[in-house]
Amino acid sequence: MRSPLSTLRSLARRYERELVCGRCRAVLAWVRLRPVALMHVRDIAGAEVTPLGCRTALGITERRLGQARADAAAGRARALDEYDGIAACEREMAYLRREAGEVMFELRCPACRARYVRSLPDLASAVRRADGSRVELH
Ligand SMILES: [Zn+2]
Repeated sequence: MRSPLSTLRSLARRYERELVCGRCRAVLAWVRLRPVALMHVRDIAGAEVTPLGCRTALGITERRLGQARADAAAGRARALDEYDGIAACEREMAYLRREAGEVMFELRCPACRARYVRSLPDLASAVRRADGSRVELH
């Protein structure tokens, strides 16, 4: 349990962390978190990851889910893909609905294609909680 003072200290600190793919352990992005500014996330090519409004992120996932259902109807194995299949898209939809109204980041592992969608508050708290310089996503 954290004391209110240590929580305040952690909110005032600056953080720079690597985001690591929980599936293959590749680094997929860097996060810089400062007290007042918006979080900055850069992919491994150095490009800024554009934050998405929750509604936009929902639209993207809805389209993916439609595609995954079409894949299933056509008997394509992609419908069962761990990250782009029906189950993955449904999980993502549920997450986006829980995090309604938040700014979202979508990260794709360059090594294994795993996709991670995280809200800004979720990512910020994972970054603040991390002991070392790496934050593993699952
Ligand atoms: Zn990966």
